[in-house]
Amino acid sequence: MNTIPNNDFLSLTRENEHQLTPFTLDHEQCVVEIWDTGVIYFCPKNINSSRKKAIVLSSAIHGNETAPIEICNDIITGLLTNTINLIHPTLFIYGNPASINIGERFVEENLNRLFSGMQKGKTPLARNENKEQIRAAKLEDFVSQFYQKHINAERTHYDLHTAIRDSAHEKFAVYPFIHGKPWSKEQFEIVKSMGVTTFLLMQKPATTFSYYSSNVHDASSFTIELGKVRPFGENDQTKFAATKATLINLIGGVEVDTAKFDSSAYQFMSVHKEVVKHNESFKLTFADDVANFTAFNQGDVFATEDSNDIKADQNGEAIVFPNAHVANGQRALLTVVPTNIEDNLI
Ligand SMILES: [Zn+2]
Repeated sequence: MNTIPNNDFLSLTRENEHQLTPFTLDHEQCVVEIWDTGVIYFCPKNINSSRKKAIVLSSAIHGNETAPIEICNDIITGLLTNTINLIHPTLFIYGNPASINIGERFVEENLNRLFSGMQKGKTPLARNENKEQIRAAKLEDFVSQFYQKHINAERTHYDLHTAIRDSAHEKFAVYPFIHGKPWSKEQFEIVKSMGVTTFLLMQKPATTFSYYSSNVHDASSFTIELGKVRPFGENDQTKFAATKATLINLIGGVEVDTAKFDSSAYQFMSVHKEVVKHNESFKLTFADDVANFTAFNQGDVFATEDSNDIKADQNGEAIVFPNAHVANGQRALLTVVPTNIEDNLI
C-alpha cells in the first residue's frame, strides 16, 4: 500500500491495530513517511527556517482520550491535502491504536507507565510480555530515530491527553522533572496559547512518555490535559480551538512572543505528596465527581488504607489524578501545592 485512503490516517491506524508496513507517500511539499501504525513523519522538502524545531505530537497514549486524537487527525489530513503549511519536521504518534478501538484507556497495561525506567536493563525479548510493552519500546525507538534525523533542531514533544475527571482548571500541563534545569518561558507561552495556564512541575523521574523524551533526548516536553474524556464525536470542538490553532502555528513556524511572559498569568503547582495504593483496602474519601485541583484544608482526610488516614498537611493542598482502581504498588493520588518559580526561568 502506498496511499492513505481519504487522507484519513486515523482510520488507517484503527484498521491496523498492531502494525503497518512502512511506506512513503508522494507529496509536493513534504517528505511523508509512515513508519508504523499510528506513526507518520512529515518533513518539508525545503527547510528554510533559520530556527529549526523537531516536533513530536502524540495522542492516544490512552485510547479513550478522543479529543486530541481528533485534533491531530484533522491536522494530519490538512498536511496531506496541503491546506496546512509545514515548516518544522513533525512526527505524529497515535500511541495505542488497539485501545482506541475498544474505547478504553488501555488493553492490558497503562502505556504511560511503561517508558524509560520500566524497560531499562531488559532485553528486547523481555519487553514482549504484552502488546503495550512492545508498543512503548517501539515508540521510544521512533522518537529516537526522529530526533536523530534532526540532530541540530530544538527538540519538543507535546503529549496530548484528556483526564478521567473534571478539573477545577479545565486544562493543565505536566512539566516532567528536568533535574534542576531552568523552566522555559517560551514553552510556558506556547502551552498557554493552547489555553493552558496551570502547570504541575514534577520533582522526580517518571515512566511517562513526556519524561522519556525530556530526560533521554533533552526535549522540551509536556503531558497536556485538555479537558475531560468523551467518546468520539462528543467533544465540543470550540473548547479545543485554541489548542488546535496553536499546534498548527507551531508546525507552521509561527512563533509566540516570549517577551509577554508574566508569571502572574499562570498557576504553578508542585507535588507535595504521592500516595501509593498498597492493598485493596485503599479508599478515597471523596466522590468520583470531585474535580482535579480541588483544594483541601489541613487535617482533611484524602484517603484511607488499612487503619491509616492519609491527610492534608496544609490548607490549599489540592488533589490531582486520584484513581483508587490502580494496581497495588501504583500511584493512586497526587497532592499539589502552589509554588514559585521566578528564580529558575530561562
Ligand atoms: Zn491520558
